[in-house]
This record gives sequence, C-alpha cells and structure tokens, in this order.
Amino acid sequence: MYFVANWKMYGNLSSLNTLDKVIRFSKSKEIKGGRLIYCPPNTLISSFAKKFNNCQIGIGGQNCHESKDYGAHTGHVNSRMLKNIGAHFVIIGHSENRKQGESDKLINLKIKSALEAKLKVIFCIGETLSEKRKKKTRSILSKQIKIGLKNIKNKSNIFIAYEPVWAIGSGIIPKSYDLFKTIEFIKSKFRDKLPKVLYGGSVNPENITNLKKINNIDGFLIGGASQSAKKFIDIVKKTY
Ligand code: PEP
Repeated sequence: MYFVANWKMYGNLSSLNTLDKVIRFSKSKEIKGGRLIYCPPNTLISSFAKKFNNCQIGIGGQNCHESKDYGAHTGHVNSRMLKNIGAHFVIIGHSENRKQGESDKLINLKIKSALEAKLKVIFCIGETLSEKRKKKTRSILSKQIKIGLKNIKNKSNIFIAYEPVWAIGSGIIPKSYDLFKTIEFIKSKFRDKLPKVLYGGSVNPENITNLKKINNIDGFLIGGASQSAKKFIDIVKKTY
C-alpha cells in the first residue's frame, strides 16, 4: 500500500523536525510493507531529500512545467529540476491546479515530460460535485484518463489518484460501495497492466478504518492530515 503525503503550500524549514517520528516509523516493523512518499512544496524538496537520505521514504513534487527544457518561464520548475534536487515522484493534475485552468491536454504534456525525466507520476483525476450530481462521474473520469494519458504507451510509472473534488478538504468521503465501483471502473480503462489506484479526499485516522476495507484501493493520497506526523503514522498503522 502507498501513502502519499501532499503538503500543498504548507511547511517551512522548522517542519523538518516533525519528520523524525516518521523516519523512525519507516524503519520499524510497524510499517508492515507500507510505502511512504512525501510531496512537500518545492522549497523543501532538497531538505527532505537530505533528511530521508538513509530511509526508504520517497519524495515528490506537487506539479511541474510541461517543458523538458530550461526556459523563460518565470516562477516555474520542470520535472528535470525536480529530479535534480532529489524527487522521485511528481503529482500532476491535482484539482487545485485544474481549477486554475490546467487542462487535460496540458496535463498530458506534463506527464510526458515527467516520465522522460524518469519521475514516477501520481496522476490525479476526479469529478466536481456538480458533475457528480449530473451523474457525469464516469464520463469525466474517462475523458481525464483518455486525454491525460494520450500517446503514453508505457504506463508502468503512472499511479492514478482518484480524488473526487468534493471530497478534498471537506471531511466528506464517498460511500464505500460507490468508491469500490469507481476504482473498478478506473482500472477497467487499462487493458494490459492495471495501474495502482490511490484514493484521496479527506482521509484521516478515523475514516481509514472504513476506507481500508475497500479491497481494490492500492493506497491513499493524504492532504491535510499528512501535515501531522502522528495522524499520518496513525493512518498507515490503522490500514494494516
Ligand atoms: C489532496 O489535496 O490531495 C487531499 C487529498 O487533501 P485532503 O486530504 O486534505 O482532502
């Protein structure tokens, strides 16, 4: 099982101290095969990489520019730059960026450049509340997958993160049966090798007890709760 911590635009150098607990946990037997990945803001990736030097915790960026080349793109970093400072993963297509105008086509370019830079991609998809109410969840997910992964033959380094937009930061999670069926639907879109599919949206130490029973989920993308080492560790422990 994968546990991805998305720190969003939170954290500074003093947050590094909170990682000691997680590092100890990652080296203990209690981890029970769970794979931890931290996606801090870009300003902290190097420091995280140094801190995690001697452990198995992965590091990822939260977004990247679509160009694999350096260039005049003020305020942006590309996947090569993330790789260069120690990232192994990058989140692409998060709804908070889609809301800012990131299109499926742009996401497709970003994924391609990240794979070229040898980063693993955590590709976020998910429907909004109004799309859910209009019963468009499946057509939206199909479109996001189709365009987002267009012309990408080798998908072995792509994880899908199903994050219903209405579940992010809201404290509300999908009904277990609905979530099972949606994950099943997502997996059915892949003919050859099934991707790992993570669930994200308000995962916390309380609701993990129900979420872990959904047996086609391969892990969790955790936002708010991941900023607390205790909550993040609790989520992992309660999954097993
Ligand atoms: C996210 O932003 O990826 C996320 C899952 O956030 P939260 O856990 O806070 O809902």
